[in-house]
Amino acid sequence: MRIIDNIPEMQQAAEVWRCEGKKIALVPTMGYFHEGHLELMRAIRNRGDVLVTSIFVNPAQFGPGEDFERYPRDLERDLRLAGAAGTDIAFIPPMKDMYPEGYQTFVNVTEVSAPLCGRSRPAFFRGVATVVTKLFHIVRPHTAVFGEKDFQQLVTIRRMVQDLNMDIEIIGHPTVRETDGLAMSSRNAYLTPEQRQKAIRLNRSLRDAQTLVEKGEKTGEVILNKVREVLAEGDDVRIDYMQLCNPETLREVARIDGPTLLALAVHVGIARLIDNCILNPSA
Ligand code: AMP
Repeated sequence: MRIIDNIPEMQQAAEVWRCEGKKIALVPTMGYFHEGHLELMRAIRNRGDVLVTSIFVNPAQFGPGEDFERYPRDLERDLRLAGAAGTDIAFIPPMKDMYPEGYQTFVNVTEVSAPLCGRSRPAFFRGVATVVTKLFHIVRPHTAVFGEKDFQQLVTIRRMVQDLNMDIEIIGHPTVRETDGLAMSSRNAYLTPEQRQKAIRLNRSLRDAQTLVEKGEKTGEVILNKVREVLAEGDDVRIDYMQLCNPETLREVARIDGPTLLALAVHVGIARLIDNCILNPSA
């Protein structure tokens, strides 16, 4: 695996591959890899001739008081794991080159980034859309993969790619979970063993909601009441949001009349965890 840590070298390499007719696949990440990241690499590996994994903790997507400074990092381990998962190029751009002094250009996807996480993290999707646009211009991928765990991020990127005529295929990858159902996340590292047990409630609440819908329940309020009951707010557990939405527009819905996104964000200790599922109504 080759490590590229400057932007011109990455752009030059991409130009050469494109001239040679090679297909470039990209996995954008903030590092501190877990099996979710590695699955993304393996899933897209065969869709390109060159697999680039970028590692960049993007300050533009963290708000004031959020965890940018303490976001977990372990570059040495990441490089080892990325290589073993089939990454050809680890692209690690320096902060000062991504956001040099005087930087002032941002990408704003207005509607789909407004609800859910956009409400509690107002700068988040602007930061994500901006850094992904920059990575797309630098790496020039033909295809890029994003996890469905960050469902709103995936919808935002799809919208951006369509609106800005970026000729890039966006692949969504299903959420990778621990054996007890907890969605893998770099932020799970913030949980104490006791909080880790409580964090299982997110996935359990989604599964219970699915069971209700399978039994014919269509009323949003009933489903959300069930989710609230399973999450059981209290010591260390506080709901940020739980919402039912159209999975394409992310507009809120009150009834399950077609495939519906159930999205959650829950503070467990100092970690803010998100999870989601698509509810499919029974016929
Ligand atoms: P991050 O490093 O958290 O920015 O994540 C990089 C990519 O990995 C994003 O596309 C995430 O959606 C994806 N990802 C993170 N956790 C998971 C997971 N548990 N399952 C699937 N994809 C994930």
